[in-house]
Amino acid sequence: MSNSVMRCPFAEWKPSPNYNKGRHKETQFLCVHITDGQPSIGRSVERFDDENSHVSPHVVVGRRGELYQLVDFDDRAWHCSGWNDASIGVEHVARTPGELDREWSDLSEHSRRALIDCDGLSEDEIADLVASETDPGMPITAAQLQASARFAAWLCKTLGWPVDRQHLRGHCECPGTTHLDCGRDIADGGIFPWSDYIAAVIVELSKL
Ligand SMILES: [Zn+2]
Repeated sequence: MSNSVMRCPFAEWKPSPNYNKGRHKETQFLCVHITDGQPSIGRSVERFDDENSHVSPHVVVGRRGELYQLVDFDDRAWHCSGWNDASIGVEHVARTPGELDREWSDLSEHSRRALIDCDGLSEDEIADLVASETDPGMPITAAQLQASARFAAWLCKTLGWPVDRQHLRGHCECPGTTHLDCGRDIADGGIFPWSDYIAAVIVELSKL
């Protein structure tokens, strides 16, 4: 990869210390993740910037379509132990329903509220989610899907990849992974809308 394609031109650069310089393999595909935590992209980036977390994707996509790049594409980020050498990692701030069920029943109203994406919701809708007996999760938003698709389209074009599921994969598809909800298709009970995503990447590609 030449220097000119090391960074996405429309992502904000927020360098993380969590990476290895260079790679042992050619970059072959994009690995899609979901953060499975709280809704703030700022707090997600803080975690990926913390050298004690030992985790970092190359790119994070927020719920309003914010796009941050943390690691250069020709360096090895730490997002998927089986695929770190071969892939570029993209995180989405979203959460599988039920992910926090073990702690959910013990959380205060205030703590539950901090785990809900309240943007665009009425007070009644927020109150319903807070009162939920199980973790309601956070679906991928339309703005987030579109921003991620724009990035993926740019990546496919820049690296000469076809837009297909060989080049755009979910973390859950990595052999031996325990992250079985991460990047899992809605059709398979996950929260990532793969068919909408591929369609959106093709639309974004046509604009480049
Ligand atoms: Zn993951």
